[in-house]
Amino acid sequence: MTDQTTARNDAQAAADRFLALNSGNLASYLESCVRCGLCATACHFYEVTGDPKYTPAYKLFPMARAHKKNSWPWRWFGGAKITEAELQEWEELLFDSCTMCGRCTQVCPMGIDIASIVSASRSAFAAAGRGPEDFMQAAENVREKGSPLGMTPSVFDGRVEWLEDDYEVDLPMDKEGSDILLTVSSIEMMKYPKSIIAMARLLNHAGVNWTFSSTGYEATNFGFLAGKPDIAKLALERIVNAAEELGAKTVVIPECGHAYGALRWSGANILGRALPFEVLHITELLSRLKADGKLKFRPIEGSITYHDPCQISRRGGATHLARFLLDDAEDFREMTPTGDENWCCGGGGGVQAMERAADLRHKVFQIKMKQVEDTGAQMMVSSCANCRLTMDGSKDYWKWDRELESLAELLVEYLVDDDGEPVEWDD
Ligand code: SF4
Ligand code: SF4
Repeated sequence: MTDQTTARNDAQAAADRFLALNSGNLASYLESCVRCGLCATACHFYEVTGDPKYTPAYKLFPMARAHKKNSWPWRWFGGAKITEAELQEWEELLFDSCTMCGRCTQVCPMGIDIASIVSASRSAFAAAGRGPEDFMQAAENVREKGSPLGMTPSVFDGRVEWLEDDYEVDLPMDKEGSDILLTVSSIEMMKYPKSIIAMARLLNHAGVNWTFSSTGYEATNFGFLAGKPDIAKLALERIVNAAEELGAKTVVIPECGHAYGALRWSGANILGRALPFEVLHITELLSRLKADGKLKFRPIEGSITYHDPCQISRRGGATHLARFLLDDAEDFREMTPTGDENWCCGGGGGVQAMERAADLRHKVFQIKMKQVEDTGAQMMVSSCANCRLTMDGSKDYWKWDRELESLAELLVEYLVDDDGEPVEWDD
């Protein structure tokens, strides 16, 4: 097959997938854009570059083109034609420069969910074998190894044993009859294991009946992000099967944003059946435990601010719960804008896993640095390991001097017993 034929086939595969996905709400979104341009300044990629190609509405175009050409009367003139040149042009816009943060939708007068169009468009690109190589490989790792970072079941098991010994913390595995199945993000396990220890210590202290699973442990869902529905489904099935086998009534997603959205909001649709359990983000669970008096904290010292992960606050609805958990802070300062309007870290939607997007990510992080500096806070706390990894990388790049901390790790430091005495750990 010649290169030209391969390119034509790729383009046709993408066009076919666009059309297969283009129904119901997506089609109405594509018809609704009035080209007002209001979404431009809501997007961090446009905000830091001023480049019109980063206007969110522009990301609708490839799918809109396929849709229009296949609609009456255009389909009489040849149907959907996507060219290789167009695939090349839009790949960067749909992958490297959309974190699926949903900020543009908040300002769109037509309520267009651009992130969902980007997600469907990525699926068309994946069908055509397109997309950033490292990112697509991370998605394949989920199929082959059980996790995007290659954390196989035996690696997971080994690391849990190591953490249990090193930190002298009880980390139950495959405990039947547990109320809660706690999942982890491989980013945490490989880069920030202390956040896993922190979650375990908080749950153990509150007397929660929980367990890890040796088969359904990975919370992240790179199939969902990369537009590979079979991998997205496989990742969810591992968790659902594990929860059913253990009899868990609740599945808890750790400090990870997209993992929460993938299971909580999209899980049933991807699986084709209702989820047999409740889904909570760790922030939600810790808030419940605090509200029930099972977790108590002493005043958190120093000046802190909170970075709202897009998928947990704006698109997840847990905005107020992080504030509730941090209401013991002596000096809590909100960023401007904050909460549901907060700016994205720049690495969501899988952008963190695309090496070629690093320069753009660092540029975007300038918005966050300014937001934090404007508060004067010394520490920025967050509850997403992907945000943390993105921000840690950009913090090093800019040699920025503020502290970044995980919400669970901060809380465990300030835990007190029923007498108000600090709980000590043997680290
Ligand atoms: S979802 Fe976020 S990153 Fe994507 S276009 Fe909208 S504002 Fe930009
Ligand atoms: S704000 Fe909405 S209607 Fe206006 S250009 Fe953007 S997507 Fe289109």
